Amino acid sequence: MQTAEQTTANAAQEAWKKRPLIISGPCSAETEEQVLATAQRLAATGRVNMLRAGIWKPRTKPGMFEGIGAKGLPWLQQAKKLTGLPTTVEVATGKQVEDALTFDVDVLWVGARTTVNPFSVQEVADALRGVNVPVLIKNPINPDLELWAGAVERIARAGIKDIGLIHRGFSSYGNTEFRNAPMWHLAIEMKLKHPHMPIINDPSHICGRRDILQEVMQRAIDLDYDGLMIESHIDPDNAWSDAKQQITPERLKEMLEAIIWRK
Ligand code: PEP
Ligand code: MN
Repeated sequence: MQTAEQTTANAAQEAWKKRPLIISGPCSAETEEQVLATAQRLAATGRVNMLRAGIWKPRTKPGMFEGIGAKGLPWLQQAKKLTGLPTTVEVATGKQVEDALTFDVDVLWVGARTTVNPFSVQEVADALRGVNVPVLIKNPINPDLELWAGAVERIARAGIKDIGLIHRGFSSYGNTEFRNAPMWHLAIEMKLKHPHMPIINDPSHICGRRDILQEVMQRAIDLDYDGLMIESHIDPDNAWSDAKQQITPERLKEMLEAIIWRK
């Protein structure tokens, strides 16, 4: 007999191994209704394997919505119960790791602004010691592969076995087509140096806008990425963060169906 906890742990392990691994959900958890409705509509697409939601949001400037905080974690727990979708959340401090694990978040991810800071990554790594949870590590905001590799090494040295890479593009000065330039060659070099780690593309933060998402998703699949992390929202234009790049779950389904998948 398995306990309910073991069953969800197994479901999360299964989801981690799915290819393509499709992770979706809002940039930020805003309200309980929003999280539950997004999760249900994503599950109804039949194409999403994992639910994402930002609980603590690293915003460029103060005075913006900085995330609902730990109060949103039970909403994710509820969403998992309703849909069976495992959950993933960004963590940037030891306390956030503890809180996320207390509420059974299945996969943690380190954000681009955390990967640049070895003190923060080390704090997250220390909180992960002795814990068996997969961790995804986004590239740093600047194009520095050593910094990305260093973050991977810190998390690996904490004993984490399942580590994945998320390519979310690199910031550059001035107006460009992309919010964060993809610099595909850097992500591919990183993957070649870590061949056993899955690499997930995050077209939402690369594009920063909806109209070019499809081509970036296709490019990632053509380059043999293991999955995609795409932001989705039940009312994208009124999202509390990253409104311009989010799409509805139904639009996501259409876009995933339009992809020409590799055989
Ligand atoms: C996010 O995933 O919403 C986020 C803050 O991403 P990044 O760390 O890539 O900026
Ligand atoms: Mn976002």
